[in-house]
Amino acid sequence: MQHGTSGKHFKNWSNTYSCNPSLYFEPETIEEIKEILKSANENKKIVKVVGVGHSPSSIACTNDYMISLSKFDRIIDIDQENLKVKVQGGIRVDRLNGILYDNNMGLSVLGSISDQTIAGAICVGYHGTGINYGILNSYVTEIEMILASGEIKTYSKNSNADQFGAILCSLGCLGIILSVTIQCEKSFKLEQIEYPGRLEEMLESLDEHLKSSDHFRMFWYPHTDYVMCYNASRTKKPINPKKFNWFKDKLIGFYLLEFLLFIGFYFQFLVPYINWLYFKIFSNRSEYVDRSYNIFNFDCLFKQHAFESSIPIKDTSKYLLKLKRWLNENPNVRVHFGVEIRFSKSDDIWISPCSNQDSCWLNIIMFRPYGKEYPREEWWNINEKLMIECNGRPHWAKTHNLKKTELMELYPKFEQFDKLRRELDPNEIFINDCLRKVFS
Ligand SMILES: Cc1cc2nc3c(=O)[nH]c(=O)nc-3n(C[C@H](O)[C@H](O)[C@H](O)COP(=O)(O)OP(=O)(O)OC[C@H]3O[C@@H](n4cnc5c(N)ncnc54)[C@H](O)[C@@H]3O)c2cc1C
Repeated sequence: MQHGTSGKHFKNWSNTYSCNPSLYFEPETIEEIKEILKSANENKKIVKVVGVGHSPSSIACTNDYMISLSKFDRIIDIDQENLKVKVQGGIRVDRLNGILYDNNMGLSVLGSISDQTIAGAICVGYHGTGINYGILNSYVTEIEMILASGEIKTYSKNSNADQFGAILCSLGCLGIILSVTIQCEKSFKLEQIEYPGRLEEMLESLDEHLKSSDHFRMFWYPHTDYVMCYNASRTKKPINPKKFNWFKDKLIGFYLLEFLLFIGFYFQFLVPYINWLYFKIFSNRSEYVDRSYNIFNFDCLFKQHAFESSIPIKDTSKYLLKLKRWLNENPNVRVHFGVEIRFSKSDDIWISPCSNQDSCWLNIIMFRPYGKEYPREEWWNINEKLMIECNGRPHWAKTHNLKKTELMELYPKFEQFDKLRRELDPNEIFINDCLRKVFS
């Protein structure tokens, strides 16, 4: 049996979930992975592969066997003619971005960070924004997976096609992703225009804004009417990056903010003023051009809790206006900026949050300045309530309270997914406590 180490303490990026796996493995070969799976089946152990632990939930946690695929991080093939790349599951997206750029290729869409492993991102349905762009999973053309039995299977539109739609967003519970093939496009630059706006006005003309660029998103500052808007489109213009000003962007934008929110923890009436102040400081219009991934990604600042849902796009205004009204009616609830509002095209992946619906993503956060835990229950509850009211679906990497019966209502193929899961993993070695809630 491959030698696992004991004593590993795992914490996710935001330090909000942790676990103590009895054995931690960094296999170098497929044979070693097979041995771990065999032992898990024989000894009734849970096996979780961990990417870089960026999920703000316990989805990657286990106190049994934890596997890191950090040694499965190679590029297997770059097909420049067909613009496809095949990579091992453990490669980080930021490394892939650089390699693709050097080969005149790029991923069509990215979320706010690229630190994740490609397999971790695919498992949870990693998305960016752009109404004509699906979640990253919708660009995946093939996945190679090692099943609980040790069998290796390839899934694509040509191979095991009937199950490909399930494998494309698998929550890490159908098997271990060994490799992923992704349809890319030629490397591209994006020109981003950022400008301030008012929430109601932006929502009134949302359709126009969605069409006005390739990748449109907004950032609402709760307790105010203000939003920052970001329109990014492909361009041939020369690179003219956003100027980084250490004093403004780092000292004020990061360190001072954390300090102010720390003070705000003791004097919570200050929080709306902090939101307003940061909008005023950072709301100037600017335009810049950069490599695609430098525009897609941005600084998400410091440790935070996050909750995100994907709702039918037609309900965007309803959700946000109700949320804003609720906040006005509950002045004792103080919440941090920003509410990130993004959009993704519908797909046909069984349990993708954008399955069969053009979607609006709504991401709320609550920072943890110097580890302080602001009360967030009411803010989370109202967002989950509005999500349910709109038939929205939770982001799989983030915490939520939906159970199987509710998920079956939201996903016509949920039961089919669960059946396949039980067939592929009869001893449920891939089901940790977080996933057990989803399937019970
Ligand atoms: C600051 C920040 C910003 C973020 N921004 C976005 C965003 O813009 N858009 C978005 O969609 N998400 C976003 N997220 C969430 C994040 O993208 C996901 O949680 C992330 O993709 C998970 O990748 P990971 O490598 O950290 O995987 P982990 O969190 O370690 O694991 C996630 C799941 O994948 C499974 N898994 C990992 N590797 C494998 C494998 N090889 N085979 C089988 N299962 C595997 C794990 O068991 C687990 O179930 C953000 C998170 C943070 C902290």
